[in-house]
Amino acid sequence: MPQTAVIVVDMLNDFVTGSLACKRAERIIPPLVRLISAAREAGVPVVYTNDSHLKGIDHELALWGEHAMRGSAGAEVIPELAPCELDYVILKRRYSGFFQTDLNILLKELGVTDLVLAGLHTHMCVRHTAADAYMWGYRLIVPTDGTDAFTEDDYGSGLAYLKSVYAASLTDCDSVIAGFASA
Ligand code: ZN
Repeated sequence: MPQTAVIVVDMLNDFVTGSLACKRAERIIPPLVRLISAAREAGVPVVYTNDSHLKGIDHELALWGEHAMRGSAGAEVIPELAPCELDYVILKRRYSGFFQTDLNILLKELGVTDLVLAGLHTHMCVRHTAADAYMWGYRLIVPTDGTDAFTEDDYGSGLAYLKSVYAASLTDCDSVIAGFASA
């Protein structure tokens, strides 16, 4: 019996409106509001994987500049998608939500087999999280209206990569929601 969880990657103030703002991300907020609220209603776990960088330590900062610094407002989930008490929040210091975090043991303990992977960015943190998810044997579902990237090219090539290399099934948030209702 498949058990699904929704993974919301890096929908943080810094990535939507802050220091690394992705203007395109605004279009994915309404579908994600619907997806997350439907998941909660259906008892599907919602897991946020959030960048949470340590100043002067994390080597990614040399490439991207300071963003999502631990304890700052920029590292908080955007208000529209704020986690509620029943949700899970995983802090990460690398692109993948699995790398050196509790994500895998959390999902195993929840009995999760299938991941609905959403958030930012299609070709970067979503992609690296998808890589580890695939290698750990999770089935991947990616709503194309629930993920985005800085450019159309990064978005499109990211989706194509997820599909061809990690066998992700590409769908949309409303179809995922319909699946919750019929499960
Ligand atoms: Zn980062």
